[in-house]
Amino acid sequence: MTMFQEIRKAIQGLWSLLVGLKITGHAFFQKQSTVHYPRKTVPNLATYRGHIELVGREDAPGTPKCISCYKCAVGCPSNCISLSCPEDQPSAKTRAQVVPDPLGQDPAFRLTPFKVPPPEGVGAPSKRTPATFHLDYNYCSLCGLCVQNCPVDSLRFSEDVYLAGFTKQEFEYDLLTRLRGQAGNS
Ligand code: SF4
Ligand code: SF4
Repeated sequence: MTMFQEIRKAIQGLWSLLVGLKITGHAFFQKQSTVHYPRKTVPNLATYRGHIELVGREDAPGTPKCISCYKCAVGCPSNCISLSCPEDQPSAKTRAQVVPDPLGQDPAFRLTPFKVPPPEGVGAPSKRTPATFHLDYNYCSLCGLCVQNCPVDSLRFSEDVYLAGFTKQEFEYDLLTRLRGQAGNS
């Protein structure tokens, strides 16, 4: 390699270094668009779609608007909502008696304690408040069908951006207890 080539190579290397420093410097002085979590957090985003949660009644925030129609549970493609209503106990059936197991082999499907959707108009809303309402978020695909199909707008997506856990059990939610906690009367 000649002296001229050596100088040319050194100049190219120096130029490359300057270009890199310019890009780094530009990024360094720009306004940060991320935060150093968990030391800092950002406000929850209104458009964020977290796990579903129950919506309380206007006159009683700790009581869900839910009328236990089972539409959400029966329509959930991931089979991850379960609820019960005292009004339905005498005629309770498993979901498998209503919706056949598509593969005929899933024991979890057959054992899911979903109830038959009651006929239209059965039970006053106040009597059809669910006694239990659980979500297994481990299997939820956030498809939104439950929120979309609820006839009384008793479901919505939470805005819990900072959801983290170490076990599956931490993602199995008692949504009634959650609602009561949000209403401050748990
Ligand atoms: S968002 Fe979809 S998958 Fe999740 S609970 Fe609702 S219906 Fe089921
Ligand atoms: S669809 Fe709405 S009203 Fe019906 S059981 Fe689900 S949450 Fe309750």
